[in-house]
Amino acid sequence: MEEADIGLVGLGVMGENLALNIADNGYKVAVYNRTAEKVDAFLANAGDLKSNVMGSGELATFISMLKRPRSVIIMVKAGDPVDQVIAELKPLLSEGDVIIDAGNANYHDTVRRFSELDGTGIGFLGIGVSGGEEGARHGPSIMVGGSEAQWDNAEAVLTAISAKFNGEACCAYLGTGGAGHFVKTIHNGIEYADMQMIGEIYGIMRDGLAMSPAECAKVFEEWNKGPLDSYLIEITSHVLNAMDDESGKPLVEVILDAAGQKGTGRWSAIEALNLGVSATTIEGAVAARSISAMKDERVRGEEIYGAGAKGKATISLEALEKALLAGKIAAYAQGFAVMAKASEDNGWNLPLATIAKIWRAGCIIRSRFLDQIAQAFDSGGAANLLTQPAFIDMMKDSNGALRAVVATCAINELPSPCLSSALAYFDAYRQARGTTNLTQGQRDFFGAHGFKRSDKDGDFHHTWPSLIGQ
Ligand code: NAP
Repeated sequence: MEEADIGLVGLGVMGENLALNIADNGYKVAVYNRTAEKVDAFLANAGDLKSNVMGSGELATFISMLKRPRSVIIMVKAGDPVDQVIAELKPLLSEGDVIIDAGNANYHDTVRRFSELDGTGIGFLGIGVSGGEEGARHGPSIMVGGSEAQWDNAEAVLTAISAKFNGEACCAYLGTGGAGHFVKTIHNGIEYADMQMIGEIYGIMRDGLAMSPAECAKVFEEWNKGPLDSYLIEITSHVLNAMDDESGKPLVEVILDAAGQKGTGRWSAIEALNLGVSATTIEGAVAARSISAMKDERVRGEEIYGAGAKGKATISLEALEKALLAGKIAAYAQGFAVMAKASEDNGWNLPLATIAKIWRAGCIIRSRFLDQIAQAFDSGGAANLLTQPAFIDMMKDSNGALRAVVATCAINELPSPCLSSALAYFDAYRQARGTTNLTQGQRDFFGAHGFKRSDKDGDFHHTWPSLIGQ
C-alpha cells in the first residue's frame, strides 16, 4: 500500500494542479481533501496520469499510501485551516516524516508552527509557491524555508516540478524557519508594486493621452520586446485586447475598478515598516488597492472636486516606458533591501542572487530584469540595487523620464501613488544632506531626545526657550 512518493492535502486550484504536476514528472502522488468528493473527481479526471495518482477521502487511508519517511504537502486556505490540518496529521505521522506548508502563510505563523512541532520528531518546511494555477500545473517558482536536513526529503520532487530558466530549477532552499514564506511575502509585495505602476502608466495613456484599450495594448506589446520584457507586461496587453462578448466593449472597460487583496502585499509593507526599511512603492500599491475598493466615496469625490482634465497630457510613450523602468528599479531595490535586513535580523543569510534566479521563471514577476538582478548580486556589491553598476547606468538614463511622468500626473490631476513614491525614494536615497536635522531639532525641543552633530562625535542637547505662557 505504501507506494506514493509524496502526499498532498487540499485540492483547491493550486493543490489540484500541483498534484498533476508531480504526477506528470513521474512521481506517485497521493491526495486528500476535506470534501471527499473532490478526491473522487480528481482521480476520475487524471487521464493519462492515472497510474501516478491515488488518494482517499479518509485521512488515515491517505497517510497509509505514503512511502516512509513520509512527506505531506499542505495546500489549503492560509491561516486557521493550516493549523487544523496539522493537528489532524500529527497523530498519524511519526518521527522523520515532514509536513510541508505550501500555501501563502504569514511567516510569523510559520515560525510558530515550527516551535509547535518542535520535539515531536515531525519535521516542517514552509515553502512559498508562486505562479498561480498555470505555474502550479507546469512549473512554479518555489522558495523553501526550514531545516536543510528535512529539505533533503522533498528536494527531488519539488525541484523536478519547479519552473526551469535555461535549464536551472527555479526552486531553492533559502534559509531556516520562516525564510521561504518571508521571501514569498516580499515577492508578492513587489508584484503589487509592479502591477500598480503598470496600472498608473495605463491611467496616463487612458486619461491623459485619451488612448483606447487596443492602442494601449499595442504599446505594451511593443514594450515587451525591450527592457520591460516580463510576464506582467505580456498579460497586460492581452487583458487590454480582450473583448466582452456580452456588451461588445473591450473587457477592461467593463471590469469594475476595485481591486481585491488577500493580505500578502499588506504583510510586506508591515514587515518593511517593522524592519525600518523604506518600501514606499509597496506601501503605495497596498494603499492604492485600498482606495480602489472605496468606489462609492471616489464617485462622490469626483462630484465634489471634478474629474480633472482629460486627454490634455503631453508626454511621450518613450518617457512612459523609461519611467516604468525607473519605478521598477526603485520597487525591486526596496524589496531586496527589505529581504537583506530581515536576513540580517533573523540570521537567515538569504542568498539574494539565488532569490532573483528562482524568480526568473514560473512566478508572476518573472522577467528579463530579474536575470540582470541575479547577475548584479552574483558579482557581489551592496544589497541596494541603486548602487549596483548595471542599475546605476539604467537609473541615470531613466530617472529623468520618471520625473517628467510624475510631474505630468501632478499637473493633469492623475494619481500616481507608486510612481511618485518611487521617485521620492530615489531622490531621498541620493540626497547626501537631508532635512531630518530639523526633525531632530524639533524632537530635542519638545522631548529632550538629543541629537548628534555633523562636526563632532557625541550626544548633544540644546537648552531651548520655554514657550509656556506665550
Ligand atoms: P483556497 O481557496 O485558498 O483553498 C481551498 C482548499 O482549502 C480546498 O482544498 C479546501 O477544502 C481547503 N480548506 C479550506 N478550509 C479548510 C479546513 N478548515 N480544513 C481543511 N481544508 C480546508 O485554494 P487555492 O487558491 O488553491 O490556494 C491554496 C493556497 O495556495 C493558499 O494559501 C493560497 O493563498 C496559496 N496560493 C494561491 C495562489 C493562487 O493563484 N490561487 C497562488 C499562490 C499561492 P474543501 O474543498 O473541503 O473546501
